[in-house]
Amino acid sequence: MMRNISTMLKVLLRNPRMAFVEPSITKFMCSYMNRFRVRKVGQNLILHSHLPPLNSRAYSKFVEEHLIKRVSGPSHAQIAITNACPQNCEYCYNKDRTGRLMNKETILRVAGELKDMGVVWLGVTGGEPLLNKDIVEIISTISNGCAVKLFTTGCGLTPQLAAALKDAGLFSVSVSLDHWNPEVHNKQRGYKNAFDEAIGAVEMFRNTAGMDVGISAVLTPEMIRSDDTDRLLEFIAALGVHEAWLSELKPTIEPFWNRRIVITEEDRQKLVHLQNRYNSDGKMTVNYLGHFEGRECFGCNAGRKMIYVDAFGDVSPCVFTPMNFGNVREEGIGQIFSEIRSHFQPGSHCFINCNYGLLRKYSEGRKILPKAESIKLMDEVRFGELSVFFQLYYGTNQISRAVNPKKMVA
Ligand code: SF4
Repeated sequence: MMRNISTMLKVLLRNPRMAFVEPSITKFMCSYMNRFRVRKVGQNLILHSHLPPLNSRAYSKFVEEHLIKRVSGPSHAQIAITNACPQNCEYCYNKDRTGRLMNKETILRVAGELKDMGVVWLGVTGGEPLLNKDIVEIISTISNGCAVKLFTTGCGLTPQLAAALKDAGLFSVSVSLDHWNPEVHNKQRGYKNAFDEAIGAVEMFRNTAGMDVGISAVLTPEMIRSDDTDRLLEFIAALGVHEAWLSELKPTIEPFWNRRIVITEEDRQKLVHLQNRYNSDGKMTVNYLGHFEGRECFGCNAGRKMIYVDAFGDVSPCVFTPMNFGNVREEGIGQIFSEIRSHFQPGSHCFINCNYGLLRKYSEGRKILPKAESIKLMDEVRFGELSVFFQLYYGTNQISRAVNPKKMVA
């Protein structure tokens, strides 16, 4: 049965340009959206926090630029606004990144350029982004016409700061929490107050009117293969948050370049089913990134519709790909993105889950692959078939211009 019908009619009335979207893409979007329940949080109609609110200017821009005009720029980006963090997560994707920190002016310039390129959803991350003293000003500036989501451990949050972030235009926040057991969470995060600070931050954000509050959890294969993910979701739902944002542990850094930690298709399907079950209950939205980025939906967006700028200005295809294609102090982000885009294709499987083995071959002890080696590595990469969305997005007419057949698996 079609969920959200009356809400979607409101969204359509607000976005009459949706009528100009190719019918096959509209059908795909309706079927995708039907897996979730639209929530009204403050003034925002939210499907889940990986898309802009459906009644926002950012969503109208997504419709116009990405669904109708099909611009080649990214729709999504993440930007780290500091590398400082009191926690020391075993699997932190930023652990090995170094350099000279971007200042506020550079962050704002880059965010502005990303928006000009088509970015409608911007994840603010770190390090711990709350430790950047300019965070309110940064969010206030970049949230104009763009959905801004914060990823935080909660460290350093006060009720006043939570309210200021909301007033600055932040539409959603995810607080990291990987386990219901404080000892397990604290150990994984290498920080004795991690659990308490996360729970405290959830309360402060929840008490901030109109704020979409979620928990982001990184799941190990053991958690996925046991009943632990279910138990974690029950715990998260009891916190009274709007959303659980789930992703699996990724083989981003050297200790995790190991087949044993990479999930299988069966694991992914298990999480998709869990997501669907929770979403049909309707108590809390479960948004599993591996579903959004699965071949049945939008596929891997790395370097095509997603881009990551780390705290030092180095640019990667996504947060989980330790490959540097340039620095925003030396080149425009548009130029760097074009370079990345020329090597990446919209694959149907997670790029890093499939290609971490090549990092070992090319890294030669380097933690983040420099540009020349990243390009060499890409010569060996073969992408799978396009995701369902990208098959429709490019259509048969544009597919030969959008992808290089030599880079596809036969
Ligand atoms: S590489 Fe994996 S984590 Fe990165 S954008 Fe692709 S699917 Fe997402």
